[in-house]
Amino acid sequence: MRTFDYLRAENVTSAIAEAAKPETRYLAGGTTLVDLMKLNVERPEHLVDITRLPGLDTIEVSTDVIRIGALAKMSKVAADTDIIGAAPVLSESLWRAASAQLRNMASIGGNLMQRTRCIYFRDPGAYSNCNKRNPGSGCAALEGVNRNHAVLGTSDACIAIYPGDFAVSLVAFDATVLISGSIERRVPIDEFYLLPGQTPNLEHQLAPGEMIVGIEIPHVAALKRSHYLKVRDRASYEFAAASAAVGIEFEADGRTVRDVRIAVGGVATKPWRLRAVEDALKGKSIDEAMLRTAAAAAVDGAKSSGHNAFKIELTPKVVARALMTVGDIA
Ligand SMILES: Cc1cc2nc3c(=O)[nH]c(=O)nc-3n(C[C@H](O)[C@H](O)[C@H](O)COP(=O)(O)OP(=O)(O)OC[C@H]3O[C@@H](n4cnc5c(N)ncnc54)[C@H](O)[C@@H]3O)c2cc1C
Ligand code: SF4
Repeated sequence: MRTFDYLRAENVTSAIAEAAKPETRYLAGGTTLVDLMKLNVERPEHLVDITRLPGLDTIEVSTDVIRIGALAKMSKVAADTDIIGAAPVLSESLWRAASAQLRNMASIGGNLMQRTRCIYFRDPGAYSNCNKRNPGSGCAALEGVNRNHAVLGTSDACIAIYPGDFAVSLVAFDATVLISGSIERRVPIDEFYLLPGQTPNLEHQLAPGEMIVGIEIPHVAALKRSHYLKVRDRASYEFAAASAAVGIEFEADGRTVRDVRIAVGGVATKPWRLRAVEDALKGKSIDEAMLRTAAAAAVDGAKSSGHNAFKIELTPKVVARALMTVGDIA
């Protein structure tokens, strides 16, 4: 059995000071971290429990910005009536994730920091060859069972998917991650997640000891008419096979696109913004045929590893269907 220290932090400053020690992890809801410790994937020597830090569980919806604290529970944000009214995509991407029990435990900060569900990554006893867990050791998924792996943003070192849902809607709507550490800083969420390249062990911009304290989402009009479509093998308690976070703002005629936001999940190594599809739709009057044509660009550059080829066919359909929903096209 491996031992570790446990400390409950009283405030953000003391938590950050404690987390400066090597091999330290913050403990929020524990629904990812404790799992990975049991699997011997995460092997921290120190845990800093941040669940009781004051003031980090707030939700504010103003005319300019939506601000969510890192310790707000997934279930609380999903059920917040102001969020549901202002930005359905945020609520939907949360309540379609995991299960009710998990959402009651899990925090927004922990959700952003969840790790891949690659079966080889999660099984160090059977597979030593995982570049993410054990840099330079190879990638068992390339020649293995890779139905649930990525087709976008991959490298020859790693094809693991970023599995979360909420971050997909945050990427579509240009959220900012609020970070505390030796300095306070703000990182656009699209830059927060890193592509695997030759260093899949590096997944995000957070330096050791830094803490996510919240996120901010600009309160744009397209949020009001937004949606998260998640396609998966079963209707609940399952990660996405492919998902789309979309939002649209029409001109006064109710058909011409003034602004549109699209990102996909379940198919890429990080939440994946589809700017080319957005550009193809802006200023155009939409109907089903043109949405399907534009959505084909969703998989530009996609690469199959074998079992996951179906995602290349599925993703444009998910994008088109999500856009038809927000565009009121039957
Ligand atoms: C069976 C199962 C099914 C799931 N299905 C889905 C799904 O369909 N969609 C989905 O999106 N998610 C899914 N999840 C993942 C779930 O949403 C995450 O486990 C959860 O959001 C993590 O939050 P937490 O507070 O429990 O994080 P923890 O487990 O406490 O922490 C996770 C990681 O984040 C770090 N961390 C936590 N808070 C902070 C912070 N504020 N700043 C910096 N680092 C921090 C921790 O150190 C740790 O490394 C599933 C999980 C399980 C177990
Ligand atoms: S896909 Fe990435 S996480 Fe999975 S085995 Fe390969 S290197 Fe490891």
